Amino acid sequence: MKIADQTVVLINYTLTNNDGEIIDSSQGRSPLAYLHGAGNIIPGLENALIGKDIGEELTVTIPPAEAYGELDPEMIQPVPRDRFGGVETIEIGMQFQANTPQGPRIVRVVAVDDANVTIDANHPLAGQTLNFAVSIVGIRQATPEELSHGHVHGPDGHHH
Ligand code: ZN
Repeated sequence: MKIADQTVVLINYTLTNNDGEIIDSSQGRSPLAYLHGAGNIIPGLENALIGKDIGEELTVTIPPAEAYGELDPEMIQPVPRDRFGGVETIEIGMQFQANTPQGPRIVRVVAVDDANVTIDANHPLAGQTLNFAVSIVGIRQATPEELSHGHVHGPDGHHH
């Protein structure tokens, strides 16, 4: 069986940035299980896996547009300090959940001065080219229930 829409795929992977730093890896964990064709993983990786078979290994370089998008400067904005009432010390690198027109988002503090806190609501991997080393360790047909939910069930998927 080859990877196609409506298959459940199990992969081991290591994700590095262009400096060679490891950002994420399945090493030491169960393989990642995803439903192919359902947008469970970033588009560039999903496209690279189409037609692959169990046992195949590949390395894929994915530009930001096919990964977590370009960095959007408009999502980096100063917010008056008094909007952070109750937080005594605000430092660069802190994360907060903010309600945005696109729904709740994790934002990171990137600058602080006496009046304002500058927050960045971009995805932490926005603007980055991602390098995946992937090995395919399982492929099976998705169940009707998985297809209707749009995600994988079972030991490595959702439990509900
Ligand atoms: Zn489900």
